[in-house]
Amino acid sequence: MTVLIVGTLGLDTIETPFGLKKDILGGSAVHAAMAASFYSQAAIVGVVGADFPTEHLALLKERGIDVSGIEVGKGETFRWSGYYEYDMNQAHTRDTRLNVYNTFDPKVPDKLKKAEYVFLANLDPQLQLKVIKQLDSPKLIAMDTMDFWINNKREALREVIKQVDFLLLNDGEARQFMETPNIPLAAARLRQLGAKSVIIKKGEHGALLFDQGGRHFSAPSYPQEMLRDPTGAGDSFAGGFIGYLARTQDVSSANIRRAIVVGSVMASFNVEDFSLDRMKRLTPQEIGRRFDEFRGFAEFGALNIKL
Ligand code: AMP
Repeated sequence: MTVLIVGTLGLDTIETPFGLKKDILGGSAVHAAMAASFYSQAAIVGVVGADFPTEHLALLKERGIDVSGIEVGKGETFRWSGYYEYDMNQAHTRDTRLNVYNTFDPKVPDKLKKAEYVFLANLDPQLQLKVIKQLDSPKLIAMDTMDFWINNKREALREVIKQVDFLLLNDGEARQFMETPNIPLAAARLRQLGAKSVIIKKGEHGALLFDQGGRHFSAPSYPQEMLRDPTGAGDSFAGGFIGYLARTQDVSSANIRRAIVVGSVMASFNVEDFSLDRMKRLTPQEIGRRFDEFRGFAEFGALNIKL
């Protein structure tokens, strides 16, 4: 089952307490597709400039990712530069250069229009809307966004939210967008805006689901001692989440919980190194072992005293 992913392909310059890396492979669609590719075939719709190194495309192809929806536009590749301090949950943007995305008019290739599982990764919400309009009959649409679009394209963002099954946001972004410090309240307001279910990612502290039945699920955090670069954690989470749902073809609430833990597993690996460096080396066995560890973190017995 193919997962269609639309988002950025970019060159990131990132500074963390563990080093400074210039012009490394990044972009929301890249991180998401890499994580999804462990479960389903991923296909990317996006644009790069002629300066995008061909080895990056080769790496995506090696993972079986369909790159036929990636255009080469006139101009430079998207670039993002940011830094993290010791609280690595919070990315600080230094510079965002949309470059080829300024004039990008996404065209979903015919064979991908019938994709049933779709992830609208971080991107201009007006472009996200254009993609939704080209889809034949999507079964499940998930979307992500960030402060850049909350600040600059609030109205278009509200339009996209109405059309998605899952809205994924960081805790800080949910608070900012819904103007409340209270996460359950922010999630309830996002659902009132039309998102069927809301997933709030809390970086190293796990993830929360507020689903369409008003039910709540909390995925545990992973005690990660190898955290080097959190860039792409949110997209890896989303890629794992939707890739797993597409693979299993099961959107029951029990399977959605499992998919959230799969997403958390993929994010926990992605942050172990810069760019896709950890994901390139990741094996299915490692994924399986870490999933079992996550299960253990959330297990506890029933109350065994009489109150
Ligand atoms: P995250 O999973 O939220 O850490 O996403 C990180 C990726 O998003 C980076 O590799 C960036 O290239 C990309 N990115 C940063 N800013 C934007 C933006 N405004 N729109 C789309 N993608 C972005």
